[in-house]
Amino acid sequence: MPFSKLGLYSSLVRGAQALGYTEPTPIQAQAIPAVLSGRDLIASAQTGTGKTAAFALPILNRLGPHRNTGPRVLVLEPTRELAQQVDESFHALGKFTDFKSVVLHGGVTLGPQRNALRAGVDVIVATTGRLREFLDGTLINLSTIEVLVLDEVDRMLDMGFIEDVKAIVKLCPPKRQTLLFSATIPPKLEEVAKFALRDPQRIEIARAKPVTESVNHVIHPVTENQKLDLLYTLLQRDDFKSVIVFARTRKGADRIAHQLRLENHACVVIHAERTQGQRVDALEKFKTGRVGVLVATDIAARGIDVAGVSHVINFDVPLHAEDYVHRIGRTGRAAATGDAVTLVTPQEANEIVAIEKLIGQSIPVVPVEGFAYEGGAAPRVDPANPLANSPKRAGHQQSLGKGGKQKGDAGKNQDKTYKGKAFGGGNPKWHSKGKPGAHWRDRKGR
Ligand code: AMP
Repeated sequence: MPFSKLGLYSSLVRGAQALGYTEPTPIQAQAIPAVLSGRDLIASAQTGTGKTAAFALPILNRLGPHRNTGPRVLVLEPTRELAQQVDESFHALGKFTDFKSVVLHGGVTLGPQRNALRAGVDVIVATTGRLREFLDGTLINLSTIEVLVLDEVDRMLDMGFIEDVKAIVKLCPPKRQTLLFSATIPPKLEEVAKFALRDPQRIEIARAKPVTESVNHVIHPVTENQKLDLLYTLLQRDDFKSVIVFARTRKGADRIAHQLRLENHACVVIHAERTQGQRVDALEKFKTGRVGVLVATDIAARGIDVAGVSHVINFDVPLHAEDYVHRIGRTGRAAATGDAVTLVTPQEANEIVAIEKLIGQSIPVVPVEGFAYEGGAAPRVDPANPLANSPKRAGHQQSLGKGGKQKGDAGKNQDKTYKGKAFGGGNPKWHSKGKPGAHWRDRKGR
């Protein structure tokens, strides 16, 4: 079904076409008519499914021409990056309309945000913290809000923003349309839904499909000691062109970036302790391809939309299985394919089980051929058999070894994933690194 059949004004159809959208994605095909009907909505859709346009287009349709009567739409986002990106999407899609918006988030001075509010806006896209700062003053009154969007609500729950969200919802008029978007709908989220929505229509977009169809998953077993070495080795490969490396903590992200730079590997970093200017600058360099490696923490990377990310490398196994899905949502976007590589120590092997369950497939464990593993072989990492995991060497056939669910699947996937990819073989750069005992820290005297 083309965009023109969804009941949108032609100016918005043209906006979508100008972005190269020929057909609505499944979430758009379902959510746009639902939002146009005026009903509340709960949509569970993974990031990367086109959910921003699924709410932005019908909202812009409802807005019509700019009015100076106070903000009519409020979109709440969990992170600054998301707020920024959602506002950009509104503007790209509403290119042929004259609506006005402001993005309110921390990390930047209040002045320009205040000026935009004084000049009059139709749409506010905000993070909860900065919005509450404004709500303490007199510049914003939410009594004119007609549509409230709560986006990525599962992440807001994770980040502990839920009381803020509730307080903000209470300030909006009861007669409004509320749209809730979330990659997952945990029970706690139903509580929020009960509080904020009235008789919502529910839309669920199958989550596993995009994950399994467009992303190849692989686990590389490694000891903690050799993780940096293995990362560096992987980044030497020609097919690792545009890579996001995920770390669990800010400190960890900084440490990885520092080590990469010591190895003359250009990279940028984003995490919550970086200033807004640094985050914008880092993303810009990565998006434009000036720097091929972005090191990020889970929260900071949420919502990053970069075309053509070839690999996501999970330097640490994510703390929550959900985060794995969010992380790999950065690659294989919009019908492209990508690789999700997870570096797993024997101690982390158990954490893979929940991820495999969530994505509905087992992930092959593949030692990196040609990498100089300490002790001559990769450590044993077997998510299906937790007791077997130990730093004891397993040899390169471990994923094809005895018993458990890895047995057949892992072997099959292994072929599928790496056949013809010249993994390790023949690349002189590949073999030049990681001689036995020559770890980064050793080479750099650390
Ligand atoms: P989102 O889930 O909103 O973050 O969108 C993910 C990516 O899909 C973004 O790069 C969008 O520009 C792109 N996208 C959204 N809708 C469409 C569409 N109908 N056709 C092609 N690409 C789209």
